[in-house]
Amino acid sequence: MPLKHSLSETLSVYSSKHFPWTRRKTSTHRHKVVIGVGGNVGDVQRRFEHLFFEIQKDKRVVIIQTSLILKNPPFGFTEQEDFLNTTILIKTSMNAKVFLDYLMRLEKKFGRKRSFANAPRTLDLDIIFFDNLVMNTDKLTLPHPAWSERESVLIPLSGLRL
Ligand code: ADP
Ligand code: MG
Repeated sequence: MPLKHSLSETLSVYSSKHFPWTRRKTSTHRHKVVIGVGGNVGDVQRRFEHLFFEIQKDKRVVIIQTSLILKNPPFGFTEQEDFLNTTILIKTSMNAKVFLDYLMRLEKKFGRKRSFANAPRTLDLDIIFFDNLVMNTDKLTLPHPAWSERESVLIPLSGLRL
């Protein structure tokens, strides 16, 4: 069983084999990216571990660090299970647009179905930061619009050495 530490009545943190985790070697990929990872359907913790290995398979991506896993209540549509959230620091050779497509493909691979806003999901992958890029297009807003207001991002993010 993963270690659990209660932060408040509604928030708790968990650790598992690769969360948190830090890589020993450096990487020569040019872009530094923080992704936010979340889910609330099925065995999410196991899915995060599976995701870790799936990301490591791609030569264009290297995981530098992962943070703890935060369990927190849903927002928006609240009649659903609590979410597990974490953040991952990655280095990649892909540009931001290609990297977003890569994340969307990973979501699909992990069974993500899009229904309505803030709906339950197996896996949500968001780009929080992509280098220090600032942009606002239909497909991609950087930094992620709500990152500084969400405990689900801020608490895991505080554990990363950026
Ligand atoms: P949310 O993450 O807000 O719950 P979705 O995961 O369904 O919603 O994402 C909806 C769309 O948000 C995606 O199709 C993507 O094009 C867009 N998007 C805009 N900015 C970002 C970002 N920084 N990271 C991930 N997706 C983004
Ligand atoms: Mg998303």
